[in-house]
Amino acid sequence: MAEIRLYVSGPLETNRVLPLDTAQSAYLFGVMRRKLGDELRVFDGKSGEWRAEVAKANKRNGLLLCVEPVLPQATPPDLWLLFAPIKKARTAFVVEKAVEMGVQKVLPVTTDFTNERINIGRMQAHAIEAAEQCGATFVPDVAEPVRLLDMLESWPENRKLVFCDERREALPVATALARETAGAWAIVIGPEGGFSPEEVAALRGRDAVVSVSLGPRILRADTAAVAAITAWQMALGDWR
Ligand code: SAH
Repeated sequence: MAEIRLYVSGPLETNRVLPLDTAQSAYLFGVMRRKLGDELRVFDGKSGEWRAEVAKANKRNGLLLCVEPVLPQATPPDLWLLFAPIKKARTAFVVEKAVEMGVQKVLPVTTDFTNERINIGRMQAHAIEAAEQCGATFVPDVAEPVRLLDMLESWPENRKLVFCDERREALPVATALARETAGAWAIVIGPEGGFSPEEVAALRGRDAVVSVSLGPRILRADTAAVAAITAWQMALGDWR
């Protein structure tokens, strides 16, 4: 039987009863046909991974019993991903990959050339699903969208920002990040239409910003997100 991992709301402790929501109950008892006493793994985003058992098998409102911890909590490096929402399926892809590759927070930003709407609830659900599938014990928070220029105005002083700039003048990402040290970081990816001149000026003018090139070709925003997280993880993150 394939091992099932579910994200549940904590706290997790031995003998605690964990209520399942309707979607989880339908999945576990309708689709996966689990029975009373069957084992699975659960995590709440902060207490590591736990072994749990089915305490009530009901397709609408099942219950689990939390048994014992099996893996410690593993939190990804202090990396935020800022990106302008793109088409629904591509946005879902970016959220999923960000969770798999390891970021702490996803921050949708609206930009001058953004024309997609954002459904935060759906993005957060994608983040949970990705964490369940990839063995993560941490679920990145998906923040409410903020205008990029506003976010830059109150940008935290000690957090560096990788600006993925397709305009060719920026240093190649490997070179640029080799000069930096680990710590609090963020990556910003523009929308399909790119950043406006005002946004480029606001980004370039900041001490915290490191402009980088992801090569001589223009990547789509979802590709750019994966490429930038890869480069950052290899230079400064937990892939070293
Ligand atoms: N303005 C572009 C398209 C933007 S691509 C145009 O239409 O010509 C979407 C985003 O991906 C960009 O804003 C940038 O953040 C990132 N990106 C794409 N290719 C890149 C590259 N070669 N180097 C750095 N960033 C890139």
